[in-house]
Amino acid sequence: MSQNLIPRKWYNIQADLPKRPAPPLNPATGKPIKPEELAVIFPETLIEQEMSTQRWIDIPEEVLNLYALWRPTPLRRARRLEQFLETPAKIFYKYEGTSPAGSHKLNTSLAQAFYNRQAGIKRLTTETGAGQWGTALSIACRFFGLDCTVYMVKISYQQKPYRRSFMQVYGAEVIPSPSNRTEAGRKILAQDPDCLGSLGIAISEAVEDAATHRDTNYSLGSVLNHVLLHQTIIGLEAKEQFKQEGLYPDVVIGCHGGGSNFAGLSFPFLMDVFAGKKVKVIAVEPAACPTLTKGKLAYDYGDTVGLTPLLEMYTLGHSFVPPGIHAGGLRYHGAAPLVSRLYADGLIKAQAYHQNEVFAAAVLFAQQEGILPAPESAHAVKAAIDEAMKCKETGETKTILFGLSGHGHFDLSAYEDYFAGKLQDVEYTQEMLEQGLACLPKV
Ligand SMILES: *Cc1c(COP(=O)(O)O)cnc(C)c1O
Repeated sequence: MSQNLIPRKWYNIQADLPKRPAPPLNPATGKPIKPEELAVIFPETLIEQEMSTQRWIDIPEEVLNLYALWRPTPLRRARRLEQFLETPAKIFYKYEGTSPAGSHKLNTSLAQAFYNRQAGIKRLTTETGAGQWGTALSIACRFFGLDCTVYMVKISYQQKPYRRSFMQVYGAEVIPSPSNRTEAGRKILAQDPDCLGSLGIAISEAVEDAATHRDTNYSLGSVLNHVLLHQTIIGLEAKEQFKQEGLYPDVVIGCHGGGSNFAGLSFPFLMDVFAGKKVKVIAVEPAACPTLTKGKLAYDYGDTVGLTPLLEMYTLGHSFVPPGIHAGGLRYHGAAPLVSRLYADGLIKAQAYHQNEVFAAAVLFAQQEGILPAPESAHAVKAAIDEAMKCKETGETKTILFGLSGHGHFDLSAYEDYFAGKLQDVEYTQEMLEQGLACLPKV
């Protein structure tokens, strides 16, 4: 596939959804949020994309040129894995780890940095957990001449110094969160000076920083409609690549944290499902943070402190902090409203796995195909293997596509823990769910 086959438009699923998500609400008034209220932290074009129902949205030329640094990404058939499993299924994976950031996240960070620079913004703030999003935004800001401030969850800041250095290479300022920089951070530290942070807390800090500085905007790496939109380049490209093989997948699988890589891969295939095609689409999440499979569809905050608009989504409650011993990413309490809607309406399926079985699948994949998966992506690997094993039982020759959203080169300490038998399969309990849901805002 040559570079001129990179899709030139993103696919906006909001044009085709049987039922659209309920509107985001202003947390103070409980009323649907107005575009001008979002303008404190987002540029106009991204707000338009957030609300748009136009099916195809042009990718700006400058963004396309930067995509061409690593796109199209490979669609590969995992033949050695198929042979090892002795499955009649064909297993394909779309590999996003070839991007300079090592994951799919650069697909949206470039677009977001572009629109912010176009709007005259000088600096972007964001949060990062494991570091992938912070890295992706750091690179994008460097390309577009913006400053970048990254609030990094403190436990990751301590445990993943190389991730920190990676962001610093591109000139980003990296701050361990909770920090003293913001009201939100100070409030948390007053309650618990040893707090190791969470994505929700870091989001609170980054949003506050952006909202209180005129030349500064906030950038989110998942969950929101415009982020999912930018990621659809993955699935659109994959469809084109399948066409060249004369194939079409029966099953499409993506790991699910906030929902962006899953949506990016699957939405272009769901477009065909809306038109009558049969595709089984599966979102895969960790059993320790089972947002879709155990959470509740409700209005909730995107952050811990309650600064963000209320989104209708599957949630474990915004106060939920996943156990620190959990190695994989995907530790977010909510799910993208668009993915939540599709799940509620039965158009997609969801599955949860414990981390030891996920790492076992990742090691098997690496040994057969050579690529070391990110722990997040490994959830999709595990589900793909399970689907292939079902085919072995039934003799079905299905075509399975999964998203390999990133490589695991910065996650070797998690692999080390896995080999040392130190990873615990944390059970998510009814009590945790009740505690989390007890703090849902009343709307
Ligand atoms: C961030 C990340 C994820 C999870 O985020 P989504 O928004 O759910 O895609 C998955 N895989 C990799 C490699 C990531 O960096």
